[in-house]
Amino acid sequence: MQNVVRLKIKDKFANKFKSGFPHIFKEAILNSEALTEEGTIVDLVDEKNNFLGRGYYGRQNKGFGWVLTQKEHQSFDQQFFDNKLSTALDQRGLFYQDKSTTAFRVFNGEGDGIGGLTIEYYDGYYVLNWYSQGIYQFKEFVIQALKNLIEFKGIYQKKRFDTGGKYIEDDDFVAGERGEFPITVKENGVNVAVYLNEGPMTGIFLDQRQVRKIIRDKYSQGKTVLNTFSYTGAFSVFAALGGAKKTTSVDLANRSLPKTIEQFQVNNIDDKQQEIRVMDVFNYFKYAVKNKLSFDMVILDPPSFARSKKHTFSAAKDYVSLLKETIAITDDQGLIVASTNASSFGMDKFKGFIDKAFKATNKKYKIIETFTLPDDFKTIKQYKEGDYLKVVFIRKIK
Ligand code: SAH
Repeated sequence: MQNVVRLKIKDKFANKFKSGFPHIFKEAILNSEALTEEGTIVDLVDEKNNFLGRGYYGRQNKGFGWVLTQKEHQSFDQQFFDNKLSTALDQRGLFYQDKSTTAFRVFNGEGDGIGGLTIEYYDGYYVLNWYSQGIYQFKEFVIQALKNLIEFKGIYQKKRFDTGGKYIEDDDFVAGERGEFPITVKENGVNVAVYLNEGPMTGIFLDQRQVRKIIRDKYSQGKTVLNTFSYTGAFSVFAALGGAKKTTSVDLANRSLPKTIEQFQVNNIDDKQQEIRVMDVFNYFKYAVKNKLSFDMVILDPPSFARSKKHTFSAAKDYVSLLKETIAITDDQGLIVASTNASSFGMDKFKGFIDKAFKATNKKYKIIETFTLPDDFKTIKQYKEGDYLKVVFIRKIK
């Protein structure tokens, strides 16, 4: 028997959990002092001890864990994990079949029934992302479930929680065979160099797949493209393959330069014909204005929160000013691709930021496309915060 802690939930939040809300948030809990060891099973009960749901304790950002079932006495055993993973894998059947895309998400946290865990597939390799010490306690079940259900070349993992500064050599590798990195995966026919052994990120954010495709197929031919917060330059690669006249990629991180060159090279694009700048985006805006540079398309994909030497950027607070600076260097009839992964606000509010920025600069615009998460990033309607991605294609008009 697994040890179970009873977690008292304020009555005013009881219905929220009854309707399937999965996230155990601080404000709802009356006896958080009962939580000591991450990975402990918790039974959520209301003030009269009526059962609301069962989950685990794990600290993740401001959260205290996730509800995994609304069934009383459900045990979190091998069968439980096999079932959850099996359902999720079945739902990705079309992704496994499509040979032009060999990287996708096979398990998306609470969207697939287990908050705190995501699993991605990279051409035969699986990458487990553990978002708390708590979910990490279930590691053996999850790995065994993969072994029970699928064939794989190898399994890697990323601990995305505070490990107390302890560094364990080779902790990324879990099972199967080791890859030789980079491995090259495909996304809609495009090559992507991927590293599964280099810290938290692999080189590509899979949630932007649909956006990269449409940028290549519909919006790049003959255009000048500025890609800000460009990381490994994925949007630039797709734009170049779509026939862009020139791409300019801007990112603060030193590693973005060799990483972006590498992504161009694995697609046989001459990186010397493209521009890659390691610099603060906000300085680049000033530089562009001073030098009267403007672009047919500007891509904005900032992190929801970032601190650089001179700037602190928060999407919720600063997206309007980011857009204002962007509007100034976008040609008339040009396109702004505004993206955010901030879960603290929704699409309506994001469109409000866009409206505010255009009004402030006395320019007109038209929204021509919007995107949210692709199907492999499964979400549930009870947890809107999980549907974090918002991408809006904005045409600047006269
Ligand atoms: N658009 C990328 C993902 C962006 S990740 C893609 O499609 O793959 C966020 C990136 O923003 C990181 O690479 C980080 O180095 C960069 N960044 C954060 N603050 C920045 C700033 N002020 N100026 C330039 N780059 C910044």
